[in-house]
Amino acid sequence: MDYLIAADNLKDRVILVTGAGDGIGREAAIQYAAHGATVILLGRTVAKLEAVYDQIEKNGGKQAAIVPLDLMGATKQHYLDMAHTIEQQFGRLDGVLHNAGLLGALSPIEHIEETIFDDVMQVNVKAQLLLTQAILPLIKQSPDGRIIFTSSTVGHSGRAFWGTYAISKFATEGMMQVLADELSDTTVNVNAINPGGTRTGMRAQAFPAEDARLLKTPQDIMPLYLYLMGPESRHVSGQCIDAQPQRKPGISCEEE
Ligand code: NDP
Repeated sequence: MDYLIAADNLKDRVILVTGAGDGIGREAAIQYAAHGATVILLGRTVAKLEAVYDQIEKNGGKQAAIVPLDLMGATKQHYLDMAHTIEQQFGRLDGVLHNAGLLGALSPIEHIEETIFDDVMQVNVKAQLLLTQAILPLIKQSPDGRIIFTSSTVGHSGRAFWGTYAISKFATEGMMQVLADELSDTTVNVNAINPGGTRTGMRAQAFPAEDARLLKTPQDIMPLYLYLMGPESRHVSGQCIDAQPQRKPGISCEEE
């Protein structure tokens, strides 16, 4: 799908990206900055966040901010403190990309390990809920607020052995739909993106034998990330949109 994105699409916006140190989140942060936003980089590996910060500076983007936070252990207070700091430092928040995620282990439902289930639900679902609760008062003040969740094809269509991850992504889409409905009379739009198979570390973990060169890169799928974060999507809310609608889901590239 083609989206026409103006070079200053995100001018003057302040945008928080989770999992900004690697994969799709890294590219989204760089692209948001390249389109005029001040980007807040949240992640658990500071060295990776610093590399993204440097890249944004090198590209001539507005100075970014780094929030080192491990979503696995973060409490409600961590998110409230973060929201307070954002308000103090920037005075506004216009968008959040909930991107950080864990795959967990692929296994039949019968053999899902409780600890892995808890970890995936913590990072993929509960952390997003707590972060959203903390930033909502701020983002509601934006003239054009955007909250984007990250789903998956298995977030709306169950598939054998993807149990924990699929359950977490169904929950993510549910959260997105409920929040979009609750905010339907505000200027905040809430949507989800299904990236489709994309060349990242998580994809390699799920499909270790495939030829990653045949996959789209994070850069290839950015037009949708820019569109949903920007002003052109003001009439879109409550949707989960595929970044690669033509791609047949759930198969390794070698099988295509
Ligand atoms: P990556 O594994 O490449 O990147 C995930 C990012 O999330 C990393 O920066 C990672 O940090 C961060 N992260 C993971 N756990 C935590 C945590 N506990 N606290 C803070 N940050 C954390 O994944 P992708 O870029 O592939 O995935 C991005 C999103 O897209 C995910 O939500 C995923 O489910 C979804 N998705 C991806 C697809 C794909 O084919 N790639 C397909 C469908 C959906 P660190 O670098 O420190 O590990």
